[in-house]
Amino acid sequence: MRLTERYDRLREADARRDEDGCLRAFHEIAGLADGPVADEGAPTPARVAWLRYDRPRRVDLLALRAGARPVAKFEDLDRRTALGLEQRLRSEGFRTAVVGPYARRFDVALSTPSGPAERYLVAASRGAEAEQVIEAERDRSPEGARRAGRLLGYPPCCVERFVALERTPEAASDGINEAALRALLDGPPVHWALHPLCSESPVGFVPCGGRCPLALDFARRVLAAVEREDPTGAAVLRAQLLRPMLIVRVGLFWIFDGAGEGSARRGSVRYSRVAAQDDPSLPWLYAWGARAVGASLARGDTVTLDEESLLAGEGGRTVARWALSQPMVPRWWLPRSEAL
Ligand SMILES: [Zn+2]
Repeated sequence: MRLTERYDRLREADARRDEDGCLRAFHEIAGLADGPVADEGAPTPARVAWLRYDRPRRVDLLALRAGARPVAKFEDLDRRTALGLEQRLRSEGFRTAVVGPYARRFDVALSTPSGPAERYLVAASRGAEAEQVIEAERDRSPEGARRAGRLLGYPPCCVERFVALERTPEAASDGINEAALRALLDGPPVHWALHPLCSESPVGFVPCGGRCPLALDFARRVLAAVEREDPTGAAVLRAQLLRPMLIVRVGLFWIFDGAGEGSARRGSVRYSRVAAQDDPSLPWLYAWGARAVGASLARGDTVTLDEESLLAGEGGRTVARWALSQPMVPRWWLPRSEAL
């Protein structure tokens, strides 16, 4: 079953208040074969909009203004935000191009031919690049992707890898963003500056690998621009990118105040606090994530993932265990604090 259908099942079960249906659908999305479920109203992790789509990425604005990148695009904005951003950038002397309205599914993070068309993309540059990027992206072929990637300053190796990933069975069933996320996390340990799931990540593209030197150069340029503009903010950002995360899907993950060890598929984190990604456009996903997983994490102080199970512990004893379905879905984000 395609991932979009699994999300549809959860949304529909939630709308008809079918609790068993919701739990079943949630487990299918999260790749959990079973596990506990908390009552509605049980204490759950704090909500954070760690990855949000309704506002322009600040790092891209900073990098654009500082000349660290020639062109930037700001995707999936609502109409008011898009028009406001366009006006502001024009008044600063940028050339802009706007695409929209189009429809977007935030669960799989993809634009879609159906659904309400209410999202806009704004591209901005000093020269003619903004129009050229839009033009290149209109051509949905690999050649169009290559042209757009070149204009946006993305490394050619990363663009090629993305084009190849788009043709995989994983991309056909789960969408390109899920496929690209797992391909990245399952490779060599990903550098913290190439964080794949944060609104403030220095790279807005999928690197071809977690150690890609050209992607790291890109991240270095963007972070240097942030550092010049806002040194305190740069330190906060670095700490944010280094926090351990339990990633289930692109829109479903938990962020820990704590330290971890291990790899993407096998490891554990000891923590004092946990927060949950909350995309305001997916309230049913947050609600079921909180009841099926989050409530147990909120009680615990350690969480362990291996290829068969996910375990939450408190004071040395297990408070919850989930069996994983295969192929396993959850992954760790456990970056090392290394130089950039
Ligand atoms: Zn690369």
